[in-house]
Amino acid sequence: MADTAYTPDGSAIAPALTYVRKGFGLKAEVQDTLAADYTGHLVDLLRTLEYTLTAGDTTVRLAKEFGFCYGVERAVDYAYQTRRKFPERRIFLAGEIIHNPHVNAKLREMGVVFLAASGKGFDYAQVRAADVVILPAFGVTMQDFQTLRELGCVVVDTTCGSVLNVWKRVEVYARDGFTSLIHGKYYHEETRATASQVEKYPGGQYLVVRDMAEAELVMHYIAARAGKISDEPALSRDAFLARFAKGASDGFDPDVHLDRIGVANQTTMLARESLAIGAAVGAAMTRAYGEAHRSEHFRTFDTICSATQDRQDAVVELLREPLDLMVVVGGYNSSNTISLAALCAEQVLTYHIADPDEIDVATNSVRYRLIGPHHTETTRENWLPVVGALRVGITAGASTPNNKIGDAVARIFAIRGDDPLVNPGAGTDDTV
Ligand code: SF4
Repeated sequence: MADTAYTPDGSAIAPALTYVRKGFGLKAEVQDTLAADYTGHLVDLLRTLEYTLTAGDTTVRLAKEFGFCYGVERAVDYAYQTRRKFPERRIFLAGEIIHNPHVNAKLREMGVVFLAASGKGFDYAQVRAADVVILPAFGVTMQDFQTLRELGCVVVDTTCGSVLNVWKRVEVYARDGFTSLIHGKYYHEETRATASQVEKYPGGQYLVVRDMAEAELVMHYIAARAGKISDEPALSRDAFLARFAKGASDGFDPDVHLDRIGVANQTTMLARESLAIGAAVGAAMTRAYGEAHRSEHFRTFDTICSATQDRQDAVVELLREPLDLMVVVGGYNSSNTISLAALCAEQVLTYHIADPDEIDVATNSVRYRLIGPHHTETTRENWLPVVGALRVGITAGASTPNNKIGDAVARIFAIRGDDPLVNPGAGTDDTV
């Protein structure tokens, strides 16, 4: 509980929250440490060589937008500044700063303690007023903010501005009596934080759909309530509630709360699917009740962030080239990395690896996450042919530092027996 202060007559004073959203002005002081921890010299070289590195008959092509986004850079910078500012204080982090195992390991080495998820938020039982709590780039729920306010500790909020824009959208939906239909993952920190924004208004409601298949269940329900025939039978009310039990707000009733819908999305979903869901749900409202009704009862905004969009666009561009395989580097719980891997897998053999350590040069094996919703990891031996021409595409999620991307590139060349630092770019490949 909070280390509560008391007035002379014994009544409690709510502790003041010390809230920091713009860092501590220590960017210059932490710059060298950040560079040492995350700079990738091989990636710098790739950039100078038009994102192409060739050695022998191996070519690696890097997508033109990849890796750390502005929100992640800021969050990691502020976390390092916080350590510098408070060398003696206990520092906690609400979950992970971003979804990258290497970055999180660095913060642990600096003595930052990671708080576990608990109910609708995180477990702050060990936090005291004298401590510091860092909030991640994804943000935290309204309930977390309330708990932190009561604790009165220093809060360093690194929530990305693009996430705040989604919160504003959801808040307006709740204010105007619209249910927020959020394309996202109900268990993801960002979506949990975004969904909680509806609590700013009494009776605010949300429903999270993971993909078009779940959105279609919503559309069938809307059609059935309007007495229209749809291509699939709608779920019963009970079955609908059971299906979305983990992704709906308390008190959500599909018979009531699908009347006015505002679409938003987790910033890191597949942009193409988010847009399609917004368009399809709007069309379903029109089919059910007519255009006039739709214009009053339906809103949609694309809240995919520009960094996610840029990385997806860049990988689509890269996939237009002939590639033998793609390597996507990023945490297995990194939503934007998963979206990139899904795009790649539509076109070419794709390996999503959490970290370059997953590539074992000595045995020419790779441990990777299978594409799909089941979070299955597997190992493949002899994943790279060791002879013959090979073109490998590579990209990385917004939470992957450049040194990890460079390490993956180095391991690919090492398995092939080629050294990209000897006369880089002078190989036999001339198709780019
Ligand atoms: S992926 Fe987008 S929303 Fe998330 S931290 Fe990066 S810029 Fe912000």
